[in-house]
Amino acid sequence: MQTALAEFIRDTPEGREADAILRKCVHCGFCTATCPTYLLLGDENDGPRGRIYLMKQALEGREITDRTRLHLDRCLTCRACETTCPSGVQYGRLLDIGRKLVEEKTARPAWERVKRRALAAVLPRRSLFALLLALGRLARPFLPERLAEKVPASAPAAGAWPAPRHPRKMLALAGCVQPSLAPGINAAAARVFDRIGISLFEAKGAGCCGALRFHIGYQEEGLADMRALIDRWWPMIERGEVEAIVMTASGCGVVVKEYAHLLRHDPAYAGKAEKISAMTRDISEVIDAEHARLEPLPRKKGGRSAFHPPCTLQHGQNVKGVTERVLARAGFELTPVPDSHLCCGSAGTYSILQPKLSGQLKRNKLSALASGAPEEILTANIGCLAHLQGGTEVPVRHWIVALEERLS
Ligand code: SF4
Ligand code: SF4
Repeated sequence: MQTALAEFIRDTPEGREADAILRKCVHCGFCTATCPTYLLLGDENDGPRGRIYLMKQALEGREITDRTRLHLDRCLTCRACETTCPSGVQYGRLLDIGRKLVEEKTARPAWERVKRRALAAVLPRRSLFALLLALGRLARPFLPERLAEKVPASAPAAGAWPAPRHPRKMLALAGCVQPSLAPGINAAAARVFDRIGISLFEAKGAGCCGALRFHIGYQEEGLADMRALIDRWWPMIERGEVEAIVMTASGCGVVVKEYAHLLRHDPAYAGKAEKISAMTRDISEVIDAEHARLEPLPRKKGGRSAFHPPCTLQHGQNVKGVTERVLARAGFELTPVPDSHLCCGSAGTYSILQPKLSGQLKRNKLSALASGAPEEILTANIGCLAHLQGGTEVPVRHWIVALEERLS
């Protein structure tokens, strides 16, 4: 695609990056076939090719309107289009640049600004989120159904975290909302790791990975969260105490793996970010690599499970089929799930900011997951887990919790 970027951005790092991405797009439209919002709305501007064109116009200095912002807001950032694109267009990176520009050049209505500001203030703060969740649970019986389904009635207890005893050590990210919504995930991961000879631990004071604020229009605040997390981890990494950083939430994993790119122009953090991204693994990648140590362990069998691979895992991190392989080796019977490449509609704060589209995607996903009559649904990201659980009586769990239960 030919481009003529406007002077205000042409010679900036963002402009150069956007230009290189845009030039790769040949406008073939293959990506539209796998775009969840295009499939629902049938509007070219609600598909990747149309959004790329809207961003191109914005970067070329054409007027940016509320319609431009609406079509970009409706994008889930699921990156299914990247997986499909034969030309290697890095749509997600272009979207970061496009969204920042649109945010700067348009004014959101007051209510929308308040909503986004509140999400950016609450979600990344673990104790504040925990407090509000506890209040939400008390009020749950009185909430309208649409709100009540967003507040899980309870969270299973975490169980014991094994004492560190192995020379091999890995860091886990606690994250911001996961400890309140599902405290058992990282504890279960630590118990499985302990069995295979790795001590897993969380760094004290480590907070949000930065994804939440970065993706709802507060990119500088998101970058500040990233730097703060790096500061917490760095002493252990510098001393060579940990061999990897393990992500139990693929939504955080995809961003931490991109720290190297996101902080590449920050002289104080570029090197640290590069090292951290290189050390980061989704938990499925670690367990898969260590499967020989896991296999001799006794396990229960039976039961049918449907696995939902989050977009942040299969498209964002390009980790495909690994969790399924781990589960199959551990004796899980995985039911077939049609259209498993499509987003469930959770997408970070999307389910709150775009409730209608998100609700439709959830219903579609739950019906696809239910088609093989599973006894439970397994997934790999807290956002998908909480979102899907709000729409079904079938238990939805993180797969590591189910695996640990089988090993117990
Ligand atoms: S992003 Fe890729 S698949 Fe989509 S129109 Fe451009 S080249 Fe084609
Ligand atoms: S990221 Fe997802 S929703 Fe956005 S354009 Fe690509 S496929 Fe469509």
